[in-house]
Amino acid sequence: MFNSTLLKLSLIYVGILMILSISFSVVLYNVSSTELDRGLGNQARVLRNMPPNGNPFLDELERIRDQQINESAQNLRTKLIYFNIIIFISSLIASYFLAKITLRPIEESMEAQNRFTADASHELRTPLTAMKSEIEVNLRDENLNIKGAKELLKSNLEEISKLEYLSTALLKLAKTEKNDKKAFEQVELSEILESVIEKATKLADKKNIVVKGKLKKIKIHGDSASLTELFIILLDNAIKYSPKNSQIKIEILKKDKHTEVAISDQGIGIKASELPYIFNRFYRADVSRSKEKVDGYGLGLSIAKQIADLHDAKIWVESKSGKGSKFFVKF
Ligand code: ADP
Repeated sequence: MFNSTLLKLSLIYVGILMILSISFSVVLYNVSSTELDRGLGNQARVLRNMPPNGNPFLDELERIRDQQINESAQNLRTKLIYFNIIIFISSLIASYFLAKITLRPIEESMEAQNRFTADASHELRTPLTAMKSEIEVNLRDENLNIKGAKELLKSNLEEISKLEYLSTALLKLAKTEKNDKKAFEQVELSEILESVIEKATKLADKKNIVVKGKLKKIKIHGDSASLTELFIILLDNAIKYSPKNSQIKIEILKKDKHTEVAISDQGIGIKASELPYIFNRFYRADVSRSKEKVDGYGLGLSIAKQIADLHDAKIWVESKSGKGSKFFVKF
């Protein structure tokens, strides 16, 4: 598909260049022939005005003049044909490379889309396969009792929750990609962060984690719902990847004309080698370093990055493995 588009685009470029080159040649040919005709015509007029017997070679000169006009026109035609052949060959080569350059971003985005679809399908299939094999095994079991059936349903429910989470996350990714700024308004950042802290309290309490907020009152232009989403992702991660009885700090900082939100934790941190990839879709850092297995699909930070991009904000992290992480969002 891509190669045929490349070929079509190259041919369109060649067509445009050849139309220009041939039109230029026709104009040049007509202008040159008219000029030559006019120049030699003047000479003939001078000769014809000479007294009788004073121009014995007039007929001969007329013949030479016509011959000259024909030869010059023939010469010009040949040169213009060569010129157009050279233009055709060079425009073929140039058009191919030009079309390749034009199509490169489209090719890259198609590749990313394909990779994403493959990753998403893989992630969606895993819980489905688990459910299917569990059901098959249990159906074959003639001694399956109500207790076993309930356990099966419980396990299936867990897999369904995973599927639900995944499809919601994928939908969010697709939605924020549309770059829709319709819901943008002046929003109070501290209020958004307060509501985020409140929502995360239950999760934090389970691990006895204290979330401290240092929240200045600052208004920014944005979409309150997606900003809430962004900070929930960062705070959820901070809690997920922190040990029990630790502390998380959320600050709003004013720097020059910019407003920065910083969320720092005392958790497992991220290895320097993994830092460049954590905002990629489906990327999960080496979570085995965490004592308890942490659930997730590696989609949170890519959604957070998309929301930040939507707000023309920059998102980044400073982290040391084993020491903790500090995520920044700069508006
Ligand atoms: P996940 O669902 O795995 O949490 P994310 O996209 O939210 O997906 O994060 C990507 C990866 O970045 C995580 O798997 C984790 O390894 C790392 N990460 C994110 N936030 C933190 C944090 N606060 N502390 C340590 N590692 C983190």
